[in-house]
Amino acid sequence: MIIQKTENSRISSFDPENYSFGDHFTDHMIICEYENGAWGEAKLMPYGPLPFSPSNMAFNYGQACFEGMKAYKDSSDEVYLFRVNKNFERINKSAKRLAMPEIPEEVFVGGLKALMDIDRAWIPTGEGKSLYIRPLIFATEEGLKARVSNKYMFAIVAAPATSYYSAPVSVKISDYYSRAASGGVGFAKAAGNYAASFYPTQLANDEGYEQIIWTDDSTHEYFEESGTMNVFVRIGNTIYTPPTSEKILDGVTRDSFITLAKHKGIDVRVEPIAVKDVLAAQKDGSLKEIWGVGTAVVTTAFKSYGYQGENFELPVLSEEESFALSLKKALVDIQTNAAEDPFGWRE
Ligand code: PMP
Repeated sequence: MIIQKTENSRISSFDPENYSFGDHFTDHMIICEYENGAWGEAKLMPYGPLPFSPSNMAFNYGQACFEGMKAYKDSSDEVYLFRVNKNFERINKSAKRLAMPEIPEEVFVGGLKALMDIDRAWIPTGEGKSLYIRPLIFATEEGLKARVSNKYMFAIVAAPATSYYSAPVSVKISDYYSRAASGGVGFAKAAGNYAASFYPTQLANDEGYEQIIWTDDSTHEYFEESGTMNVFVRIGNTIYTPPTSEKILDGVTRDSFITLAKHKGIDVRVEPIAVKDVLAAQKDGSLKEIWGVGTAVVTTAFKSYGYQGENFELPVLSEEESFALSLKKALVDIQTNAAEDPFGWRE
């Protein structure tokens, strides 16, 4: 790896007590370029802009995908990553679906470790704090013919992330828009999936909802995901999450929640969640919780949801009563080395 360290660290201008997620970037970044059918040597260099023309194929035809992961520092200043291989495998699944070259493991994992090593001072400590890491691959060839690019860049940037706490939100169960279609790219972290979700989300925001529960594109009768998270529903003491598919992202947090719940003896069912079953459980009082899970906030609990113009309130549960919050705590404790890691996830 080529190493080019910055001579002007910006860390003294970063206030670890006062920042918001995604508005500060660490001193360095990793880049690696692909051309003539091969990835070149990775480079660790000062974080900053890169020169691309408006005819860059990523801007025009959207060959771009990314990952989201975190690094944590414990009270002894030890740095931990979490289930790195899951993100490595997923970026290559995304790349393959977008007809982009897969990134070699040594570039992905080697880049990640080198960046965490050089920028370790940027990993904030304290309740709920971590460093969010964004690996991405995008086309870099100039050209306006709609075809596969011959040039790409892999990059890793990192930004301090704040508290895991996120206030319970209200969500709209979509009965028109969908984020993914059969045969489409829903399982990939394709940049375009996010672009396509913003407008329906804005419409939901205008109606007073913070997020959307995405339903299947053909019938809108089954839950798929919520916002940019996987979704869980608790009816009685059983929790349900839809099986991953070509339309549902195989989330690392979702998989960890399923494993942790089973480990705690909670009845977990990985099966389709029908909107009508949720509404029936609401009616008979057995619907206890609905929540979303993802790397950024770990869990966002829902306080209410809307469906076809009607609004429904979810019960308010204490931290002890809530499966969403107790599983979140168990996961965060493993991620931050505050608990044993029986699954070998911390690395
Ligand atoms: N679904 C979507 C659409 C997402 O963007 C994310 C965030 N990566 C997730 C689910 C959660 O995945 P993970 O737990 O791996 O962050």
